[in-house]
Amino acid sequence: MIWIFLGAPGAGKGTQAERLREDFGFVSVSTGEMLREAMRAGSELGKTVQEYVTRGDLVPDDLVAAVLRERLAQGNTGNGVILDGFPRTVRQAEILEEMLAKHCWQLCGVLYLEASEEVVLQRLGGRRNCPQCGANYHVVTMPPKVEGVCDRCGAELVIRPDDAPEAIRKRLEVYHQQTKPLIAFYDQRGILERIDASGEVDEVYQAVKDAVSRRWQKCLAGE
Ligand code: AMP
Repeated sequence: MIWIFLGAPGAGKGTQAERLREDFGFVSVSTGEMLREAMRAGSELGKTVQEYVTRGDLVPDDLVAAVLRERLAQGNTGNGVILDGFPRTVRQAEILEEMLAKHCWQLCGVLYLEASEEVVLQRLGGRRNCPQCGANYHVVTMPPKVEGVCDRCGAELVIRPDDAPEAIRKRLEVYHQQTKPLIAFYDQRGILERIDASGEVDEVYQAVKDAVSRRWQKCLAGE
């Protein structure tokens, strides 16, 4: 079973996916994190995508789809896979439909995290990221136990290059132009769950869990 998290950068997709992973045994697959990993490793893929990611642009559809395809082919899909950050264009959604049909995977639900621009800007502005394990923090709302140090692996936290003000502006623009059409795309298919993502992490998570339980029932019933 496949789940999609849709929402603006900073809406909380990664944080909520992490919670679902812990509670439901889902596996979270973040294309952004896979691309950052490739950049850290200095691989061919990393070098190719570096410029796009750093300036806040989308990586070409076929390239990012190939990365996802390779990851899904590896198995290790737990009780279901959460796609965090894929698809981001209608073309990617179409590619995903082809992948699902080919492997007989079921798209169980699309969780759309809705948050105002003010909220996402505040979240992105205070975000810190672990360059070693990919964990995310926020200086005010989700600080690490020791300032500047990752709770999970002890590495020094950094500000992602694409969380610089210029790149944030670009990412929001790209989101409005290229990703937002997916809301209608999935709404038409009757699998979109709108979730108010402007509150505290725990409050949003409760709504996410309710939506997952609702959709899960429908999915099992073949609706
Ligand atoms: P994220 O961690 O999801 O915010 O992604 C960080 C960056 O990785 C994005 O701003 C894009 O440059 C790139 N990226 C991640 N997922 C995709 C995708 N599905 N399509 C194109 N580019 C992506």
